Amino acid sequence: MKKIILLLTIFLCTIAFAEGPKLPKNIIIMIGDGMGISQVSATVLTNANSAFRRFPITGFSITCSADKLITDSAAGGTALACGVRTKNGAIGVDETGKSIPSIFELAKQKKRSTGVVVTSEVTNATPAAFLGHTLDRHNSELLAEQFTSLETDIVVGGGRRYFIPETSGGKRKDNIDLLAKLQEKGYIIFNNFENLKKSDSKKYYALLENGELKSAEKRDYSLSDLTKKALNDLSKNENGFVLMIEGSQIDNGGHDNNQEQLVNEMNDFENALQTVLDFAETNKETLVLVTADHETGGAAITTGDIGGDNLKIDFASKSHTAAMVGVFAYGPQCEIFSGINENYLLGRKLFLLLETQE
Ligand SMILES: [Zn+2]
Repeated sequence: MKKIILLLTIFLCTIAFAEGPKLPKNIIIMIGDGMGISQVSATVLTNANSAFRRFPITGFSITCSADKLITDSAAGGTALACGVRTKNGAIGVDETGKSIPSIFELAKQKKRSTGVVVTSEVTNATPAAFLGHTLDRHNSELLAEQFTSLETDIVVGGGRRYFIPETSGGKRKDNIDLLAKLQEKGYIIFNNFENLKKSDSKKYYALLENGELKSAEKRDYSLSDLTKKALNDLSKNENGFVLMIEGSQIDNGGHDNNQEQLVNEMNDFENALQTVLDFAETNKETLVLVTADHETGGAAITTGDIGGDNLKIDFASKSHTAAMVGVFAYGPQCEIFSGINENYLLGRKLFLLLETQE
């Protein structure tokens, strides 16, 4: 009997070895812009069922850029999107200005669908790091034009003005109508969530505001609603997908030293996180990586009750800080993200997971 069990064990181990480690078919990267440890703590301390408590693997990320201790969102986003540390202000390029491919470009080679869902303008630094290449993060007109040459399946957020000519009320001085160009390429364009929700398209730009989206408490749809829709549409590709979701305005709360704004945006992000984890738990082939590009505001919880009532957040800065940020991982190969990570190595690890697949 013992011999049979031994043989069976060897047989099962051989199969497991031959199959190799399980790699994720889908990758979801969630970035809280400016979401430091205190920002996460405010959510976790007040919510016994916080999504952040559901992660089996946690770690830290050192958020420096190539030229500064304190990064901006351009270099921070590029580290995550491209796996390379660059200088502040740079998007999808190295320090010399040379373009570096983002995980989205690799995903397309691997026949994955790609998407971004953000609450900022889509040309803002974090989403732009996945979709564009320039030394100047503020060149939104150029970035929007670059986006339209890609095959990104789903782009959701604000910033419609950079796709529309000045003569039609937009911001484009070259008077090119990028929305018309996108339509020629087969994209459906949405201006509001109601129409997006009703659609069954798999290829669209949903530019829901001229500027950034309304803040969480003023919107009649949540980041979670946008996320659910994107997951539904991207998962139609049987080869899988790579999706980046950003809680873009957590950063605004930090810059403004505004606790209420910060907490509202964190709650919006946290609800989207619950949606993503529910999807990943059912799907079982999805890696979820959650982190921040940097901390904003030097936030500290200085008083409050056990259980999380009456928390008070104080701020030491109106800017970004060098504090390490949290890393939370779930799904196939999540273990490789534990410990203290340099920010660009988080990006490199995502590349490695995809590079080694068909
Ligand atoms: Zn910022």
